[in-house]
Amino acid sequence: MGLRFTVLASGSGGNATLVECDGFGLLIDAGLGPRQFAARLTAAGTSWASIHALLLTHTHTDHWNDSTLAHLLRRRVPVYCHPGHHRVLETWSHNFASLEAAQLVRDYEAQSDFILTPGLRCKALPVSHDSGVTFGFRLEALPDLFGHSCAVGYVADLGCWDGKLVEALVDVDLLALEFNHDVRMECASGRTAALIARVLGDQGHLSNDQAAALLREVLRRSRPGRLRHLVQLHLSRDCNDPSLAASAARAVLDAHACTGQVHTARQDKVCTTIDLGAPPRKPRAPRRTATRSRAAPEGPTQAWLPGFGDD
Ligand SMILES: [Zn+2]
Ligand SMILES: [Zn+2]
Repeated sequence: MGLRFTVLASGSGGNATLVECDGFGLLIDAGLGPRQFAARLTAAGTSWASIHALLLTHTHTDHWNDSTLAHLLRRRVPVYCHPGHHRVLETWSHNFASLEAAQLVRDYEAQSDFILTPGLRCKALPVSHDSGVTFGFRLEALPDLFGHSCAVGYVADLGCWDGKLVEALVDVDLLALEFNHDVRMECASGRTAALIARVLGDQGHLSNDQAAALLREVLRRSRPGRLRHLVQLHLSRDCNDPSLAASAARAVLDAHACTGQVHTARQDKVCTTIDLGAPPRKPRAPRRTATRSRAAPEGPTQAWLPGFGDD
């Protein structure tokens, strides 16, 4: 089964990503107001009517919006979050309590699989960030009749990474990863020392170099050719340059002979939809022409089927 992946907005001004699986629309985070959301969904060729669930990474306010929670309540769209998110949301959002009362809040647990809709499995991956419990996700579309499945890793808002996170991101078709800042630009930004220390700290955000090192490790442990798309998330407007972030990623991909595409998500507009509908095709073997020669024995030709024999 295929997945479609669209970043609607990314950065400290608001975060939201749409993942579509066989007609099921999943939002990862909802850090935009309902009208802006509607405009971004329209730009992505869809609408609120196609949204069936919200999956929340953490409770920083660039990742959820109270008016949007009210909108989800009106549409009876469930919100998946961690029990550790409840207290903050109950304190700061009237509408979260209403979602709870309407039994529209569903809890996920760290490191355990849960099913969002038949055919779409999710695992919540704990990450280090100064927002209480914070998560990335591994999403897997389960195999279709042809055995074709695909996987997406989504990790943003983290100050450092470890081997356990790498392990959870191995062999994904699409990796969406935070490339927040360039360390030199951050240090020269004129921001307060406390803010710079926060961003650079283990509970802050990943620099381009840290994200590139995580990407390198994921590629080292993944099957060659598996990663088809790298999506760069949560770039700092003031302390990063999209070309710096992209070249940091490209250098790692090239070093691993990985031809995957690099996409750099934006705050101000929707990113191009990435369709993970089918694995890359292997070049077909030249068709054997029928011959009457007995010297050339004919064997059965093996049709290529999606998901079989593909790397
Ligand atoms: Zn954020
Ligand atoms: Zn955050």
